[in-house]
Amino acid sequence: MKLFKEINSIHQFLASEKRENKQIGFVPTMGALHNGHLSLIKKSKAENELTVCSIFINPTQFNNKEDLEKYPRTIENDIKLLIESGCDVLFHPEVNEIYTENETPQTGNYGNLTHVLEGKFRPGHFDGVITIVKKLFHIVEPDNVYFGQKDFQQCAVINEMIVRNHFKLKMNICNTMREIDGLAMSSRNIRLTKDERIAAKAIPSTLHYIKNNIEKVSITEVLQTATKQLLSSSDLIKIEYLEIVNAITLEQMDQFDIETPAVALIAAYCGNVRLIDNIILTD
Ligand code: AMP
Repeated sequence: MKLFKEINSIHQFLASEKRENKQIGFVPTMGALHNGHLSLIKKSKAENELTVCSIFINPTQFNNKEDLEKYPRTIENDIKLLIESGCDVLFHPEVNEIYTENETPQTGNYGNLTHVLEGKFRPGHFDGVITIVKKLFHIVEPDNVYFGQKDFQQCAVINEMIVRNHFKLKMNICNTMREIDGLAMSSRNIRLTKDERIAAKAIPSTLHYIKNNIEKVSITEVLQTATKQLLSSSDLIKIEYLEIVNAITLEQMDQFDIETPAVALIAAYCGNVRLIDNIILTD
């Protein structure tokens, strides 16, 4: 695997690969890699001649300084996992390679997409996400990009960014990889204590409860019962949001009907660790 830390050198390398008409797949990450990330690498490898992964803990998408400082950093193990998975290229730049001093993300108005759910609880988060993903797309110029459904709202926002910026690439949204008890794999899971880890499995169970009952009772009722069940499952869990929204516009839904794509999304703290997950209700 080739490792690049500088924009010019990766750009030059990829330009020569492109001259040979190689199709490029790209998987952007923040590292602390797990099988969820590796499933994206695997998909990219199956569909492209060259797979590029980036590892960059993007400071502008963290609205909370402590969260940024505590974000797990496991680069040596990440490199080992990427080599084992057959990834061709890793881009792992320093912050000053990507941002000029005091640069603030400027993205334009994405309306509802960036203001609800994660956007409401993490102000500025999506400005940071849009900015870094745009920069990375310009550096790598991929044919295919791979993102996880685990970050459902991020996928919706990036889809819109791709359209607005006329990027000629295909967005591929991949299934959420889960632990045996259903907990969505996440770099943050390694920060959970033993008790928190046990409590966290109630998060995916709550989403399944919603999916199993959404056609039986009203949206208000299913959310009320699901909230009650989750909170009573453990004192360690605090819910930030639990909502059912239109899967395209992310607008709240008053009523469920099988014709309108719908998704239930949750953000909850388990101890000090913030976890997110979602389930599509109209599969
Ligand atoms: P992150 O390093 O958390 O920014 O994630 C990098 C990419 O991996 C994003 O597209 C995520 O949605 C995706 N991802 C994270 N966790 C999972 C998972 N459990 N299953 C599939 N993809 C995931």
